[in-house]
Amino acid sequence: MGFLSRFRRTSRQISDPEQIAGESNENTTPPAVESKGQEWDEKKEEVKISEWESPDTLDMIEKGQDKKLRKLSQRITSSSKVASKSSKITTGKLIPRPSNGLNIDIEHLLNRKSRRRISPTPVFERMMAELETTLLESDMGHSAVDAVLSEMRSKLIGAPLPRKGEIDKIIDAALISALDSLLRVSYWDFNQTVESIIQKEDLAVIMLVGVNGTGKTTTAAKIAHRMIKMGYSVVLGAADTFRAGAIDQLSDHAQKVGARVVKSQRGGDSAAIARDAVDSAKAKGDEIVIIDTAGRMQNKTNLMQELKKVHRVVSPHLVLFVGDALAGNDAVEQARIFQSFLNFDGAVLSKLDTDARGGAALSIAHSTNRPIVLAGIGQDYDDLTDFEPSGFLTDLLSDDIDFSRFRPEDGD
Ligand code: GDP
Repeated sequence: MGFLSRFRRTSRQISDPEQIAGESNENTTPPAVESKGQEWDEKKEEVKISEWESPDTLDMIEKGQDKKLRKLSQRITSSSKVASKSSKITTGKLIPRPSNGLNIDIEHLLNRKSRRRISPTPVFERMMAELETTLLESDMGHSAVDAVLSEMRSKLIGAPLPRKGEIDKIIDAALISALDSLLRVSYWDFNQTVESIIQKEDLAVIMLVGVNGTGKTTTAAKIAHRMIKMGYSVVLGAADTFRAGAIDQLSDHAQKVGARVVKSQRGGDSAAIARDAVDSAKAKGDEIVIIDTAGRMQNKTNLMQELKKVHRVVSPHLVLFVGDALAGNDAVEQARIFQSFLNFDGAVLSKLDTDARGGAALSIAHSTNRPIVLAGIGQDYDDLTDFEPSGFLTDLLSDDIDFSRFRPEDGD
């Protein structure tokens, strides 16, 4: 049973193209129900701030005591809607990664001679409603689902009606390309970006943020291992001084991967440790500093203030949010809050080797307008790969979709 199995049952019931057909001059505006649905979702999103630490913080936000947090959260909600329309990289330091996409284009599947057009008939709407449910069940957030559905509508509605037997293929192609474009938001290349920072500035400082247990410390070690294998010398800054065991855990990893570690005792000033790590790297000529930070403090506001302080003190070149694929929608909400405070550059999605549903990846990219750039696929140091949207989607959908049907020679 695949990710899309339920939706596929509905779309396969469309055996006759006439079930989704209208005349060529027909008004193909999507029905009112769609925009109504969006309005509802937007309202819901504004008040939905998930809590991962202390229920007190949520109370505080709702009572308006922390106006800044509330405003920032709302601002990111609305700005991500605008920003997601563009996939432009906004900062010059990130090296874009050329699209190595699925290259699935519905154009060559369409029957150009047909005077009939795909139209939002009741059968079409039923299919889209089924797809909406399917995507929501896969842990995608409302706004990401809306983005996918509206992109599909704009591709499909008004397009020439496909031949009998081609409907499935066209619907699949529209869906894959909508999901693919969601993941390619501002997509950049990790290795090339780090290398270009080192070329320009001699030192690349990478700060990892995220909630406790998502895999920050492990990811810090994996990145260090990757960079050491590329010939760089790496310093790990143990700036999570809150969690018992975090410093020892990082020191242990550092020893195993061959990195230096800069640390102090538990409860120390994390910003001072981060600065020491950077100063030490500069003094000894190391090329990369990776700063592991706290993922939990007395409450969320304290955590964010602490992280902002570390950020201010070391001005990292890259901030990476580490999200746990198993956390589903919670990971998406965490990403949104971290993004509103720290404006991270990209995300690492850990634990993709587990049986996590794929929706979190799609939603994090959409709701923060920042791409997933790296993926954790196990507990070993080598278990960190570049996150490749096309590979991810092929894995996610291959139980439902036969990708070989889209090879160019097949469609041409
Ligand atoms: P932190 O609190 O964010 O620093 O999280 P840790 O780095 O301590 O990781 C928490 C747990 O998740 C540890 O048991 C890690 O081994 C595990 N972990 C981290 N990344 C991955 C991954 O990609 N796959 C799997 N299966 N486990 C992971």
